[in-house]
Amino acid sequence: MQQLKDDTLHGTDRARRERAVQVRGKIEQLVAGRTPIALFLDIDGTLLDVALTPSTVHVPPDLAELLGTLSARLSGALAIITGRPISEADHLLKPLKFAAAGVHGAEMRVSTTAKVEPLTPSFNPELHIDLKAVADAMPGIVMEDKGAGIAMHYRLAPELRDSLLVTLEALIPKYPGQFTLCEGRKVVEILPVGFSKGQALRQLAGFPEFANRVPVMIGDDIADIDAFRAAEALGGYGIKVAGENFADAEAAFNGPADVLAWLKNLSQIA
Ligand SMILES: [Mg+2]
Repeated sequence: MQQLKDDTLHGTDRARRERAVQVRGKIEQLVAGRTPIALFLDIDGTLLDVALTPSTVHVPPDLAELLGTLSARLSGALAIITGRPISEADHLLKPLKFAAAGVHGAEMRVSTTAKVEPLTPSFNPELHIDLKAVADAMPGIVMEDKGAGIAMHYRLAPELRDSLLVTLEALIPKYPGQFTLCEGRKVVEILPVGFSKGQALRQLAGFPEFANRVPVMIGDDIADIDAFRAAEALGGYGIKVAGENFADAEAAFNGPADVLAWLKNLSQIA
């Protein structure tokens, strides 16, 4: 059915992997049986291989077309849920635009034709200055201003993770109730309080394109777990992609190439 690295798994891991993979068949059955589903997709590590920095990802040339076909077959019930700003998602998937939640739900576009709405005011300029000082003091930390949030990437200097976290946590009392920290793949996100990928999924699921459909969230990162739970609470599924956070044994997909092959298959039966 699919190329899994099952030969490297043993015993209970193999059984866990088989259970994790079964969900793919369930969703194929729903689609083939004309039960409406809604797809929610993370980008980095899910649709695209993670790169050394966010701007150096490789985008397969047929990705936008594949998602466009799927979105049309699902009557628009396909949304990107990403930590990136929506403008960046658009750039990666040009020329097409999809419903999307960007910066972990701090900005949103509820359908392919809607406008991007920021759901939060921009950050306190003083906090921005403090964060820049943190990045400047730690060579190898790449600060990314996403408007609604700020990311501190430590992929170039993984040894700095602990001291980066301690330094950022120390800033919280200075800005009470103004931001929260969210860890991801070699990144610490500074986000406005009250936003998450789970909240984003719940919100999107209330709009006409997504309502009354079985939600399916696919993701590879810690921040996606919240969206998995949101999808499950709505009677749907959260599906893990193996990588730095999820082991092969608990994931239904080996990596982005595996996800894309499955989505292609899904677009043909939808
Ligand atoms: Mg990801």
